[in-house]
Amino acid sequence: MLSEVAKLCQTMVRIPSVNPQAKTAFQPPYGEQQMARFVCNWLNEHHLDGQIQTVAPNRPNVLAVAPGQNPAKTLLLCAHLDTVDVRDMTIEPFIGQARDGRILGRGSSDDKGPLAAMMIAFRDRVHKDNLPHNLALLATCGEEFDRTGSDFFATQLSHHTNSPLPGKLAAAIFAEPTNLKVIFAHRGVVRLLLTTQGKSAHSSRPEKGKNAIYPMARAVTAVENFAAELAHRPPHPQLGLETASVTVLHGGQQVNVVPDSCTAQVDWRILPGRDAQQCRDELNLFLKNQLHDDIAVELINQYDPVDNDLEHNIIAALLDAAEAVTGRREKAVFAGATDASAFTRWNIPKIIFGPGSLHTAHTQDEYIEIDKLDQGLTAYQKFLNGNWGIDE
Ligand SMILES: [Zn+2]
Repeated sequence: MLSEVAKLCQTMVRIPSVNPQAKTAFQPPYGEQQMARFVCNWLNEHHLDGQIQTVAPNRPNVLAVAPGQNPAKTLLLCAHLDTVDVRDMTIEPFIGQARDGRILGRGSSDDKGPLAAMMIAFRDRVHKDNLPHNLALLATCGEEFDRTGSDFFATQLSHHTNSPLPGKLAAAIFAEPTNLKVIFAHRGVVRLLLTTQGKSAHSSRPEKGKNAIYPMARAVTAVENFAAELAHRPPHPQLGLETASVTVLHGGQQVNVVPDSCTAQVDWRILPGRDAQQCRDELNLFLKNQLHDDIAVELINQYDPVDNDLEHNIIAALLDAAEAVTGRREKAVFAGATDASAFTRWNIPKIIFGPGSLHTAHTQDEYIEIDKLDQGLTAYQKFLNGNWGIDE
């Protein structure tokens, strides 16, 4: 017999919700619409006040809020609705099959398993009496691309009129596959678009045009040198070094045409204390000093670095919950960036904590181990039934 959380994970894996920014189409498997409707209905069937928030056309978040005895503070639980793309998967992506102690399929570990555990833990805690503070559950769209949903929510939250939460946001927990390690920090991301302009001409007379690929080739090499320099800067004690890579390159239309434009994208992982705009300016200046070419450097999107006060009581409370089910108390940092980046304007604990492993997320045969998923639910329940560590 599968546990309730395993079944819920299975059902949600079967609802395709690939981040639509991977493609322009909004039909399933692209888009979070169907998943949002399912989560909202599930909450409402369990007498929790689920609401759809429209972030952008076809891009919904789901929010449920339960009032606590202390109306002045709110603990936010957050997980995401979208998944990465399903290209190149070696299993049927939306199979949601239980086999060999695992639930298989896209999103099983990132993020539908952790979301399922969070939904059930939220329900169970709200149905008990004596919620000490307000408790909210947010399921976001867009986490896997540019944090569309969490950014929208954070912007609403920062407006004093029309805030979607009662009371003051006191802490937030983000469900991601962390193997029940308590993640207290991750690097941010700055994504930059480099563009060179040229002039097209027939390739039999290249001197009549201006080839946009040559200056970009020099810029790509310069970015490689810049990345090598980052490795010589002082590392963060837990997060290590900043890294930068050219990850996308586009230039040219046809073999017999001199290309009139070329673009490259740079993904730069930044440490706490860094600002995306300053990073953009820094690379811009580096390219100007190294090259004589005209290269436009534009900030496309960013995730802020996340960092926490390690002495905060909520960290101890989460470590207690993890230890009770796994026997381990592990604080760690995360490799990727998360929705927590949208909340850096609040000086509150932003912790990433959930069942499943990043090693089996985004993979060709994504899965989550059912016993780990069950443990995740128990850990969330233990935490929510105890002291949340936000009383002070
Ligand atoms: Zn995730």
